[in-house]
Amino acid sequence: RLTGDGASSDIRHIVLDFGQAAFPVLEGQTIGILPPGTDAQGRPHHPRLYSVASPREGERPRYNNLALTVKRVTEDHDGHPVHGVASNYLCDLAKGDRVNVIGPYGTSFLMPNHPGANLLMVCTGTGSAPMRAMTERRRRRIPLKEGGTLMLFFGARAPEELPYFGPLMKLPKDFIDINFAFSRVPGQPKQYVQDLIRARHDAVWRQLNAADCYIYLCGLKGMEKGVDEAFRDVCRQHGGDWEALLPQLRETSRYHIETY
Ligand code: FAD
Repeated sequence: RLTGDGASSDIRHIVLDFGQAAFPVLEGQTIGILPPGTDAQGRPHHPRLYSVASPREGERPRYNNLALTVKRVTEDHDGHPVHGVASNYLCDLAKGDRVNVIGPYGTSFLMPNHPGANLLMVCTGTGSAPMRAMTERRRRRIPLKEGGTLMLFFGARAPEELPYFGPLMKLPKDFIDINFAFSRVPGQPKQYVQDLIRARHDAVWRQLNAADCYIYLCGLKGMEKGVDEAFRDVCRQHGGDWEALLPQLRETSRYHIETY
């Protein structure tokens, strides 16, 4: 379990061991999980997608494994109680259980492979999974001194709801520029990732215009609009035009969104 005891969300770090089966993945890809059993109509459950949270060499290099970050779904997007089929199945797995996996999937939400590229990452909740994969890939390559900056905007209700909060806090400040936004800390004003993007407008503007900066957004669908508006405001503040910049970023594969 990644989230604190008092947290309202239950998010798990799950490591899948592929044994002798070849299953190459890249940072930013997803895999499909086939939950056992059938739905109310007696049909097999459809597969659900989960982002790979570990880098391409695996959670532990040379062990042929990978990690997922899974949130137990107990209510739907409107707050009504539900029992999410795949997420509850995954969160309730015991060590050694066998899981049916398909994939990997994803040809666009991939990190740049060339050294020196800058990454600007914006995520909420389990949207941190691909960002962890990319950051961990870079962290393991620090000794190679390849360059490239990392900037992360990460939103959650409170620190205890942030998956990977502890390990992120331990990363060197000159390796990654981390900006946490908490929306439900008693006695503190609500902050969302878009507020911090605006607060850091100088640095964000520099990255938006850096030819070697790649932008990634991952999390719940609701975050897209706020982040888009924040980038628009940053551009406006610096005399730029987001409407003109965005198509350029997309054409050069430098703007990636994965929301669900
Ligand atoms: P279901 O039984 O399918 O749904 C139950 C109800 O919950 C439905 O009413 C549905 O509308 C609602 N619901 C579905 N998903 C959510 C949600 N995330 N939050 C609140 N309510 C929801 N999930 C992760 O935990 N980690 C990941 O890394 C991850 N990566 C994804 C990547 C992609 C590209 C996509 C498309 C989805 C990803 N998801 C991820 C979501 C995941 O695929 C499932 O949709 C989610 O776990 C719910 O599945 P379930 O079977 O538990 O719920």
